[in-house]
Amino acid sequence: MAAFDFSARLRAVRAWFNASDEDWADWRWHMRRRVTTIEDLSRFLPLNSQEADLIDKAGKRFRWAITPYALALIDPDDPACPIRAQLVPSGMELISEVGMPDPLNELEHSPVPDLIRVYPDRVALCITDICQVYCRHCFRKRRVHEAPPADAFERAVEYIAAHSELRDILVTGGDPLMFSDDALLEKLSRLRAIPHVQILRVGTRAPCMLPMRVTDELAKGLAALHPLYVNVQFNHPRELTEDAVAALARLIDRGIPLGNQSVLLKGVNDSLPVMKELVHKLLMARARPYYIFHPQLVEGTEHFIPPVEVGLEIHAGLEGWTSGLAVPLYILDTPFGKVPLAQSRLVSRDADGFTVRAFKGEVWKEPNPKR
Ligand code: SF4
Repeated sequence: MAAFDFSARLRAVRAWFNASDEDWADWRWHMRRRVTTIEDLSRFLPLNSQEADLIDKAGKRFRWAITPYALALIDPDDPACPIRAQLVPSGMELISEVGMPDPLNELEHSPVPDLIRVYPDRVALCITDICQVYCRHCFRKRRVHEAPPADAFERAVEYIAAHSELRDILVTGGDPLMFSDDALLEKLSRLRAIPHVQILRVGTRAPCMLPMRVTDELAKGLAALHPLYVNVQFNHPRELTEDAVAALARLIDRGIPLGNQSVLLKGVNDSLPVMKELVHKLLMARARPYYIFHPQLVEGTEHFIPPVEVGLEIHAGLEGWTSGLAVPLYILDTPFGKVPLAQSRLVSRDADGFTVRAFKGEVWKEPNPKR
């Protein structure tokens, strides 16, 4: 199969939408022109009637929408395209057998609606159900189907203000960047005004799937709320286009630290060469590879879940073999918090010391002082 030519595809998609430079640079234009019907999708991807029927059924079960920009990332000639797998509904979503709506029991961990508290000093706050695209592997599929109650944000602010031990607030969704700049910055400012809140974090897929959303004005507004961190989600090296890298640069040039949280996905990035290229490209874009999540057992996503051995081998294939900065933690999230997974390097311990295995397999014994 010929290598995917993103520039040519971009030109073709833009031509189909008859998008001016101004349109293409406008994130709201992309939101207005999202593809949400089989008829439109079939103009961009060859679909036989059986596929179209399954996409329709799966899309009715789990919300879908694809921005023109994200459509351009999909190789129409590759049915196994890693971007297509993340964005286009599939019949595989309908044969979920053991997947759950809320495998992390987030509902039980919510003292007020849409505020998730698992850890002593930090919380995650979901402020919207809207995203630019609806990732087929999303672990909060249940969230992107139901809008938060009207008073959810006010109740969350009250809760955080009343709990002085909460020093770190992750604002997530849906995608928080779906709000206008004013609305988002107003919400973040409310949280920043709480005296004991030390850091804010924003989780977003916009730099990856809608990079034009990250305007200079937005980056400037976010930087005024320092210390503020942005967590992004890039899952495949092809997602790091010139536009995406420029969006990341607009943030980090304002001093906003960037961490990437990939999800390990069968058929997308479950191989060492793909993951290594991804982490290297992220570092070149100044986004620190922070986590690789083992996918959750969410309904409609079972076909994405690889055996844990795959993740362990990828992690071991990075650790030592490339810059430490490029090695994310491999994480299993559980209802009791995140658990980092790695092949054990500790061979044995005795009264004299402990023995470890280095990345190429050599064994080393290190003396261990008594406590
Ligand atoms: S952008 Fe995030 S919240 Fe939205 S569908 Fe994708 S993974 Fe889920």
